[in-house]
Amino acid sequence: MFVGHYSVAFACRTERNRIPLWVLFIAVQFLDYLWATLVLLGIEKLRVIKGFTAGSMLDSYFHPYSHSLITAIAWSVVAAIGYRPLCKWLGYTYTKSAAFIIGLAVFSHWILDLIAHPRDLPIYDNTAKVGFGLWNYRDPEFALEIALLAGGIVLYLARNVMPEIRKGAVIAFGLALVIVQIGDTYVPRTPLTDKATAMGVWVFYTLFVLIALAVEKIGAHRKINAP
Ligand SMILES: [Zn+2]
Repeated sequence: MFVGHYSVAFACRTERNRIPLWVLFIAVQFLDYLWATLVLLGIEKLRVIKGFTAGSMLDSYFHPYSHSLITAIAWSVVAAIGYRPLCKWLGYTYTKSAAFIIGLAVFSHWILDLIAHPRDLPIYDNTAKVGFGLWNYRDPEFALEIALLAGGIVLYLARNVMPEIRKGAVIAFGLALVIVQIGDTYVPRTPLTDKATAMGVWVFYTLFVLIALAVEKIGAHRKINAP
């Protein structure tokens, strides 16, 4: 699962919880940020094999700290607790329910990975591995990613008040993510090394976070003059 994770970020943001979209963009990929970091440190292990599954080249054969069910729950709790100091630091409105949503957003990553991954997600440690393996079916997996993303964006647009120009930017961002997913799923490429893949994860995910930050600033400071 790749851009489908962002559907949860879009779907979680409402006018009521006021969680910044960029924070949700980190939350839904929090486990992958940990994973990429641990791969770079040589602690978690990854092989990149052409044709490993129809929709992905990643053989993530050892990732018990970032992607086991038990640690996914633990990281979700850590993220929910960490939301309070983050809000304090950045001056965002904090509510307990928003912290709970952050925790759910982090955990959603594991559930969506469960659908896509082959049986490489451990329940605990490095054993009892599960995964429904939708990545073995390239077109259905791609369709699910896009359907989820579209659904998330529709909810985001419906449940948040924003100027027209920002609506356009959100839709353009969504289309850009679709293009990224087309590239990831369908454009053949030579496998990168494990470390280069992990670096790519950091670079791309952070780029999306920055775009999410920028998108929510569009039209934010424009004052509407009374007639
Ligand atoms: Zn993942």
